Formats: sequence, C-alpha cells, structure tokens
Amino acid sequence: MVRPARAVARAYGRGVRPAVDPISSPVTFDGNEETVRVLVLGAGFGGLQLTTRLSEELGDEADFVLIDRADSFVMGFSKLDVMFGRTTADAVRHRYADIVKPGVRFVQATIESIDPVGRRVETDAGPFQGDVMVVALGADLDPVATPGLVEAGCEFYTQAGAFAAREVLESFGGGRVIVGVISTPFKCPPAPSETALMVHDLLLVRGLRESSEVSLVMPLGSPIPPAPAASDAVLRAFAERGIAWCPNAVVQRLDPQRRVAVLADGTDMPFDLFLAVPVHRAPPVVAASGMCVDGWIPVDPSTLETPFPNVYAVGDVTSVGTPKAGVFAEGQADVVADRLIARHRQRSVTSTYDGTGACYIEFGHRQVGRVEVTFRRGQRPTGTFDEPSAALVADKAGFGASRARRWFGTDWINY
Ligand SMILES: Cc1cc2nc3c(=O)[nH]c(=O)nc-3n(C[C@H](O)[C@H](O)[C@H](O)COP(=O)(O)OP(=O)(O)OC[C@H]3O[C@@H](n4cnc5c(N)ncnc54)[C@H](O)[C@@H]3O)c2cc1C
Repeated sequence: MVRPARAVARAYGRGVRPAVDPISSPVTFDGNEETVRVLVLGAGFGGLQLTTRLSEELGDEADFVLIDRADSFVMGFSKLDVMFGRTTADAVRHRYADIVKPGVRFVQATIESIDPVGRRVETDAGPFQGDVMVVALGADLDPVATPGLVEAGCEFYTQAGAFAAREVLESFGGGRVIVGVISTPFKCPPAPSETALMVHDLLLVRGLRESSEVSLVMPLGSPIPPAPAASDAVLRAFAERGIAWCPNAVVQRLDPQRRVAVLADGTDMPFDLFLAVPVHRAPPVVAASGMCVDGWIPVDPSTLETPFPNVYAVGDVTSVGTPKAGVFAEGQADVVADRLIARHRQRSVTSTYDGTGACYIEFGHRQVGRVEVTFRRGQRPTGTFDEPSAALVADKAGFGASRARRWFGTDWINY
C-alpha cells in the first residue's frame, strides 16, 4: 500500500519510521545497476556538491539530472560582496552551462510539482523521474509576509535584492540604518551581523558615519546563538564601532508613511534605510508536495533520508537541526553521495552526517573570523572560534575558489 505523501511525512515528523526502511530496502535502481537515475532538485550548495561527488565516483554509469530554474549560481557571501561594492554581479555568477561532468545533465527548468512517492517532478520543460530523488531546493524568502516591508524596506537576502541594495547604498546620504531580521530560522546566522559591520565601514569610507546610526535588530538573544565566542567577538566589534545591538526584538511591520519599524512590544524605531532579512519558507512547490512537517522537510539526521523510499533532502529545505548555511548543505550532500555510491557498489553503507560546519565571518577592516560548530540532536552545539585576521580573508577566498573549481571547473578570484 502506498501511503499518501502528507500522512507519511507526519508520521516521520513524530519520530515514527516509515513502513519501508530506505536503508534496508534492496538496491534495485530499477533492477539495472548499470544505469542509476538520480534526480537532483536544486543546483545550490547541496545539489552542486552532490552531483559533483556522484559524477566523480560513478560517472557514465549513471544519469544524474540536475534541475534548477536559474541559469547561474551565486554564493551567499558573494551577495554581500556585490552589495558593498567589492565586486560586480557578473564576476560572482557561476554559469550552469559550464558544468561539464560525466553523467550529469543540467536542465534549466522551473519545478511545478513534486511527487515524492513516484519520485517524479513536473517542470515547465516536461516531467522527470528518478530511481533516487534528492530535494535540495533551499529556502525561499517572503518579504510580503511583513506589512510595509516591500514599500519601505530593502531586503538583501535574495540575489536580486542584494544586487539592488548596492545602488541604494551608493546613493544613501547617511542617517538611521536598521539591519532587521524579521523571524527565525534564517540563512547564515552571521550574515546580518556582517552586514551591520560592513554598513559601518561603508559609511566611514564615505564620510557619513558621524551623521549616521547603525542598529541590528533580531528576535534572538545573541548575534550567533550556537557560537558564544563568536557572538562575544561580534558584540565587542559592535561596541568599538558604536553599532546598536537590539536583541529579542520582533519587527511586526514597517510604516512607510512614518518611516518607522513597529516592534511587537509597541516600540517605534525610526529609520532612513531598513535592510531586511525577510521571513524564510520552504519553496511553495515543496510545501505543496506534502513532504513538509512544520514548514520544512523532516529527515533522518544521520542519513538525510525522508520518509519516502529513495527520497533524500539536504540543506536549507530540511529541518535537520543545523543552521541554514551552505557549508551544512554541502556536508549533508557528501553523506548522501557516500551512501548512494556505497549502495551502487554494493558495499556496506557506513557514512553518517556529523552536523559539523565552518563559516567565515566578515568583521570589516579586511578582517575575517571563522567559526566551526557541531550540532548533535539533543546536545548543546559545540565549537571553536578563530579571531578575525587578515590571514582568514585569504582562507575565505580560497573556500570560494575551491567550490568554483570543483563544481564548475573554472578559476575564480573572488576579490
Ligand atoms: C547574504 C547571505 C550570505 C551568506 N553567507 C554564507 C556563508 O558565508 N557561508 C555559508 O555556508 N552560507 C552562507 N549563506 C547561506 C547559503 O547561501 C545557503 O544556506 C545555501 O545556499 C543553502 O544551500 P541549499 O543547497 O540548501 O539551497 P540553495 O543554495 O538556496 O539552492 C536552492 C536552489 O533551488 C532552486 N529552486 C528553488 N525552487 C525551485 C523551483 N521551483 N524550480 C527550480 N529550481 C528551484 C533555486 O534556484 C536554487 O538554486 C548566505 C546566505 C545569504 C543570503
């Protein structure tokens, strides 16, 4: 009996294993182990890492279809680099047309529906089906969910928003700047703090800092809650630069006439520029698939399996328990790749996800810090923090360049 998608997802969300155990079920791949058909939905950090690893190991033995609606990939931190004028939009776009890997077919198409039971999608370029399906469609942003945000604010979390914010910042004549996080969860927990620090630098260089105020408003008690040492360093940097830190503050709406952010406790915060991190949601096509529980796809945190046999999910679209960041999506994709390769080679499947990831944090003044954190279910996150330094600027550039080389085969100098 095939259970309806929504019923299976609910059962798994409550910790009940599905009737068919995807690990122990036989590896049939449609009965033909010569051609594995893997459908990868989304060519972001997770989808790119997965197809690269699978292609390296299985190459032409397989047919990997990688689907994305965009024609190019932009790394999260590149959005800030463009926004603050360090580089150009063209320089940070990695074209999917450059992906030349054995077994991989990139299809530029919008996914219109997902059937997790049949491992099939409908797209505007036709239907696709896989023996295995991996959902890596990320998190969508919903500025409209906050009244007044579209009219009076400037979201910088989408590619279009960040690139447009560059012009807004270039013509900004100084005043009250609020960097506002509307809700949790949100991608890249350090990014709003980095943005506040980079706004400070920009205003300083343009001689506008004295006549301006910079505030960071967040519904959290510390800037990077899983990493206390990193949070302390960020708060020290804010204090040194006169950046106001407003924790546990919930922005309910922006009033376009009065140019104020209205907080849940009734406080009005006046602004001349509101840089927003909007509400995050699973993409509508994922929400409509019946795979979500409480807004995101539940997965086994060790294996990234969803309750649907031979359907995995990685990255921001899941509720796996790690922050929504590219490095975690990449680590999860590695585990799915290991497991699929082992199954295809008929080796025992041992790789499990350890919840570890490292992120770079921009402090401005050409200084970058680095935080490494491990998330394990039911335990407090543990990790280390490397203080900001110029050496880590080069490390971060190397991180970006290595992904460009690995995923697209291109050399990339990212500032
Ligand atoms: C300002 C900013 C800075 C950041 N800095 C960092 C950082 O320094 N380090 C870090 O690790 N992370 C950073 N991140 C977070 C990082 O970008 C994401 O967490 C990461 O991209 C998630 O990877 P993913 O594979 O889950 O999804 P994504 O990379 O978001 O990929 C999802 C893909 O799915 C596609 N898609 C969605 N819906 C459809 C559909 N219906 N049809 C077809 N295609 C679809 C999208 O086009 C997209 O390419 C930052 C994010 C922001 C906004």
